[in-house]
Amino acid sequence: MTPNPQPAIIVHGGAGRIRAEELPRRLDGCKAAALAGWEIIQQGGSALDAAEAAVVVLEDNPLFNAGTGSTLNSLGQVEMDAAIMAGETLRAGAVAAVQGIKNPIKLARRVMEDGRHLLFAGEGALLFAREIGFPQCDPDALIVEAERTRWQEKHGTVGCVAMDADGRIAVATSTGGIFNKLPGRVGDSPLIGCGTYADDDGGVSCTGQGEAVIRIVMAKTALDFLKEGANPEAAAHQAIALLAQKTGGTAGLIIIDRQGKIGYARNTERMPVALIGSAGEIQLDS
Ligand code: ASP
Repeated sequence: MTPNPQPAIIVHGGAGRIRAEELPRRLDGCKAAALAGWEIIQQGGSALDAAEAAVVVLEDNPLFNAGTGSTLNSLGQVEMDAAIMAGETLRAGAVAAVQGIKNPIKLARRVMEDGRHLLFAGEGALLFAREIGFPQCDPDALIVEAERTRWQEKHGTVGCVAMDADGRIAVATSTGGIFNKLPGRVGDSPLIGCGTYADDDGGVSCTGQGEAVIRIVMAKTALDFLKEGANPEAAAHQAIALLAQKTGGTAGLIIIDRQGKIGYARNTERMPVALIGSAGEIQLDS
């Protein structure tokens, strides 16, 4: 841990194409999520609680491709992935291809706290939820009408990286995956090192074409650039450049280093972000 750590938080609302008229609402959603996490940090709470709380706000916002409002698979169903990770302990929990869970990030956190396993998929994740008394919902309750009609449009996964006043770093990522995916497809988000990673040096949450992100283990790769001496902004850009060069894929990522410095990069048209760093002021970008 760093002496005098500077708390910080950044959330993303997913990389992709976003209609100009929709952007302000997406940025508002990111802002609300960042502020929810920031409040926890300001009150002395942990980065882990902050990252989880920020992602819950985005999962509950039907504009984003996570939780309620998730994109539909080829059967017209919602199947979600999520992961959470604590940098100082390398503890993590994840769920993949789950249905009927209102807040997959909360279930991922329970997987982490339970500690027997790290990643549960599909029916097994639901069995685990039942075993621990975690509430399930009607899978159709997560489908919003706009998602049915906007069948062809891509929109984003959500993620948060936070650093608390004790210098602990945590990451949470949650997604409905990619539009029209085949049932059972799992993307980068719940795979530790790919869409989600945190250790003592920093934390990263990714969004974009999961199949490409997985192939370069993008979250861990970005942290490796950081360890080699790049600042967060440069590390983020280097990871995205590597992704483009090696896979031709498109994606975005957010990153915080051990000093609380924030970076982000994308090679998609947009990636709404909200961040609060050393100045203590919220900034929005896309
Ligand atoms: N990365 C997510 C996935 O491939 C999708 C996204 O970020 O929009 O599942």
